[in-house]
Amino acid sequence: MSNSAETTSKRPLRVAIVGAGPAGVYAADILTKSNEVRDGDFEVSIDLFEAYPAPYGLIRYGVAPDHPRIKGIVNALHKVLDRGDIRFLGNVTYGRDLTLHDFRAFYDAVIFSTGAIKDAELAIPGIGLEGSFGGADFVSWYDGHPDVGRDWPLEAKEIAVIGNGNVALDVARMLVKHADELLVTEIPDNVYQALKNSPATDVHVFGRRGPAQVKFTPLELRELSHAKDVDIVLYPEDFEFDEASDEAIRTNNQIRTMVNTLTNWLVEEHAEAEEPSSRRLHLHFLHSPVEIYDDPAHPGKVAGIKFERMQLDGTGNAKGTGEFLDYPVQAVYRAIGYHGSPLDELEYDAKRGVIPNEGGRVLDAEGNPFPGIYATGWIKRGPVGLIGHTKGDALETIGFLLEDRLTLPPAQNPDPRAIIDLLEERGIEYTTWDGWIKLDAHELALGEEWSAAEDANGIVRERVKVVPREDMIEISRG
Ligand code: NAP
Repeated sequence: MSNSAETTSKRPLRVAIVGAGPAGVYAADILTKSNEVRDGDFEVSIDLFEAYPAPYGLIRYGVAPDHPRIKGIVNALHKVLDRGDIRFLGNVTYGRDLTLHDFRAFYDAVIFSTGAIKDAELAIPGIGLEGSFGGADFVSWYDGHPDVGRDWPLEAKEIAVIGNGNVALDVARMLVKHADELLVTEIPDNVYQALKNSPATDVHVFGRRGPAQVKFTPLELRELSHAKDVDIVLYPEDFEFDEASDEAIRTNNQIRTMVNTLTNWLVEEHAEAEEPSSRRLHLHFLHSPVEIYDDPAHPGKVAGIKFERMQLDGTGNAKGTGEFLDYPVQAVYRAIGYHGSPLDELEYDAKRGVIPNEGGRVLDAEGNPFPGIYATGWIKRGPVGLIGHTKGDALETIGFLLEDRLTLPPAQNPDPRAIIDLLEERGIEYTTWDGWIKLDAHELALGEEWSAAEDANGIVRERVKVVPREDMIEISRG
């Protein structure tokens, strides 16, 4: 085998990126724009793989449909992929359609940016009852994920959402908003119909710590008050602040803003005597989930949830008080964080849900860097941080890749056509960037058609998402 420095100085460095969400696209963009590539030290040839037929990962399948500002990040990612110097290959699943061995044969380096799509576990009795759901699964459903069933049981009038992060807000907002408000978004039709028929009246969001320890962001919190015909309900006994809270309020603008927002809502709620809304969104703090229980008359189905009341311990953490509180609810959604999934033939840290790595250099079973294998995004550092934070992450990973460039194990078959031949030989219906352009145009045309119909009543839907995987593939592959 020839030496890497020699090989890759004569031909472009072949890099595969697995996962075409923001993390993968940012990594591809940063690599193509790196000084070394720009200054002509070497050329790079990137293939961006995606398990779904369409690109954009979390933005298409994780961001709530009523968040057009965040969905708008797609426009920036589109520009990167539309330049033509990064090849998109969709509907290709790592570990099934292509193995690590395949990737090593065709590429000098592989970057995993597979993100996190599963719900973190919550080990309390009753978590497996009918009516107990993962928030991440619900997000996948309302975003029209191709591998999630089309039906979602929305039968509960009273619902508990566990967690005080932005996903809990997304889940609660989608459950409590009137479906007609969502019609202008890209929600799939089955989602609109199901939400329209939802009997929900009360959605309770529970945090285990206090109002100064929420993980929301100010904009997302304030947005709750924009939902029509929904009252926000808060409870004075939950407004507890310890020394650490006071310090956070004093020193952290975000926390101060959110505590002000919550406190103002609490004051307004008790001052106003307006016409009550038909739905309520309750925000509870200092409630730690203990048990989800069923009703002996309907065994196996969620009938309520028990919490222990918590108190702050001075450091911003909470401890139990020994007092327990019951809430009758017919559905429970846990939104306590996402969790990554293991990847074939790579080590996996099951506790953190990440691939063990050092700054993006993936580690082997002995804890040594696995030559030529890298990670970026949530599978690298865990499911925290906003989409923009992924850029810094990609910069770090690409920095290490560039540092290692001359010692990478060279691909045996670096010809860009060779991987396509292999996919075709294996009968894999891969999709391309041109295919996405077709699917995108098709979804926009469906939106136009819907809006022009007589019964649209002036409502304009920009896009109607195509949901089934086979339809996405058929439209993309023309
Ligand atoms: P997160 O921000 O980490 O919030 C998780 C929440 O779950 C925290 O309140 C945490 O409480 C709570 N929790 C964890 N374990 C728990 C348990 N055993 N019992 C009760 N509560 C528990 O996670 P996320 O909401 O999944 O969001 C992930 C990332 O995506 C965040 O960076 C978020 O901002 C981002 N995101 C942004 C948007 C947006 O619209 N901008 C939308 C969605 C997600 P403790 O704090 O006490 O641990």
